Amino acid sequence: MNILHKALTLLLFLVCLPAAFAAGKDGFTVVLDPGHGGKDYGAVGLITYEKTINLNVALEIRRLLADAKELNIVMTRDDDRFIALQERANIANRNHGDLFVSIHVNSVAKNNKNRLSIAGASVYTLGLHRTASNLEVAKRENAVMELESDYSTKYQGFDPNSTESYIMFELSQNKHLDQSINFADMTVARLCKNAGRRNRGVLQAGFWVLHASAMPSVLIELDFICNPTCEKYLNSKEGVSQMAQAIADAILQYTGCRVEHSENSEHSERSENSENSENSESSENSTPSSAKLTYRIQILASSISIPQGSARFKGAEKVEEYQQGGWFKYTAGGDFETDGEAERYARQHLRGAFPEAFIIKWQNGQRVN
Ligand SMILES: [Zn+2]
Repeated sequence: MNILHKALTLLLFLVCLPAAFAAGKDGFTVVLDPGHGGKDYGAVGLITYEKTINLNVALEIRRLLADAKELNIVMTRDDDRFIALQERANIANRNHGDLFVSIHVNSVAKNNKNRLSIAGASVYTLGLHRTASNLEVAKRENAVMELESDYSTKYQGFDPNSTESYIMFELSQNKHLDQSINFADMTVARLCKNAGRRNRGVLQAGFWVLHASAMPSVLIELDFICNPTCEKYLNSKEGVSQMAQAIADAILQYTGCRVEHSENSEHSERSENSENSENSESSENSTPSSAKLTYRIQILASSISIPQGSARFKGAEKVEEYQQGGWFKYTAGGDFETDGEAERYARQHLRGAFPEAFIIKWQNGQRVN
C-alpha cells in the first residue's frame, strides 16, 4: 500500500471515528494515561524510571480531582503494569472519554551534548513534527510497540522507526484537534507558571496513542529525566504535587468543572474566565470594527502552509489562513454576524467538500473561545 493511500485511509478513519463515541452519558470523562509501565520502563534516569514518575503524577491528579463535580476520571493503569499503546486508546474509547491526557517524561540520546542541561515542559498534540527533535520524541514514545509480537499487523503497518510512516499525520479535518490545542495551551502555561518548568511550548508530532483515541487528546512531557536537576524535581514530593496540581487546574479550566470542599484554585479559575469574557464584551463598546465578534467556518488544518489556490481548497471561497498551536488553519466564506448564518453557509456551500467544517468565533483578528 503506498503512503498516499495509507494517509487517505487513515484520514478517513480520523474523520469518521469520533461520531461513534459521542453517545449520551452524564458528566465529563477525563482519561489519564500514565505512559509506560511493567517491562516498559520508558526513559531511564540516574535514580529512577520514567514509568514511575508518570504514575505518581497521574495518581496525584486523580486524588486532586476526586471531589470534582460531574468529572469522571478513568486511568489506563493505576499500578506498575505493561499496557500496549493501542490498548490505552481502546480503554479511552470504551469509556467514551471526553479528554485523553497521556503523561510522560522526556529525554535525549546519550550522545546529545545538551543531555545534562536540557530542560522544560512541552505538550504535544497529534500532527506532523516540525523539527527532527520532535520526531525523535514521537519515535521514542511509539517504540513501545516493538515490545509486542506482530506489532506491524496490530498497528496497520505503521513503523515507529520509519520517518515515512509519519507523513499520515500532516492533515486534519478534525474538530478534536482544536480542542486538543486549547487544552495543551492551558496545560503548558500552568506547568510553567505553577510548577516552574521552562516553557518548550505546544508542539506536534505523530504519537500513535493520540491518533487512536477518538477524543481531544494531548501528550505531556513533564520535563527531562536526563537532566539530574530536573530528575530530582520530578521525583520529589513537591515536584509531583506541583505538576499534578498544574495539570488538574488545566483540566478544571478546560471542563468548567469544580472541586467541592477544597482549597484548590478553582475559584481563581472562575474569575479568570469571567474576566476574559467581560473584557471581550466591554471592548465591543469602544468600537474598532475588528473588535466586533464574528463567526467564521474552519475547513482544514495542516502542519505546513497551503498556498492560496491549492486544489485542497477546491469548493471553498474566501479562504483565509491563521496559525495556532503550530498548525496552519483555514477558514472559508468570510465573516458572519451570527453562528446561525455561518452554519447555514457551511451546510449549503462547504460540507460537501469539507464534511467536518465547523464554526469558530473571531475577534480582533484572532480566534476566541
Ligand atoms: Zn514516555
